[in-house]
Amino acid sequence: MVSILKHETCAKCKICCTFKKESLVYVPKGIEVKEKNGLFACVHHCENMGCRLRKNKPLECAAWPFSVSKRGKELLFVLEHSCPELNKKERLQEAKKFGLEMVAPALLEYSRQHLDTLREYDEKNKIMGIFKA
Ligand code: SF4
Ligand code: SF4
Repeated sequence: MVSILKHETCAKCKICCTFKKESLVYVPKGIEVKEKNGLFACVHHCENMGCRLRKNKPLECAAWPFSVSKRGKELLFVLEHSCPELNKKERLQEAKKFGLEMVAPALLEYSRQHLDTLREYDEKNKIMGIFKA
């Protein structure tokens, strides 16, 4: 999946790859984390270079900061509020267009196959599109 963000931008930011204890629910399926100084970092994360898996990272990682959550019988394609880069006001329109065209089709298909693992919608996240489950 192509990314809207440069690898270097995410390597510097690291937000997606390091988790607080209460955020372990966001760890992508199949990813192992290790605790260090009270935080949990993905074992594939490199302090200097970011994600070592590059193009082989899991779909949920490749799609981030877009994700799919559920609200009743709806699937909401959202932009996660935790991403400082794409939540910049001047990037939101670009993010929505890119997300709906380049990320949503594959992520929705994947999400429909894993409905039981989807999180409930968090109102802090921006809804980019609403779809049937
Ligand atoms: S696989 Fe890569 S992108 Fe995903 S959490 Fe680990 S380091 Fe981050
Ligand atoms: S929060 Fe945004 S900028 Fe930071 S690592 Fe994740 S996707 Fe990249």
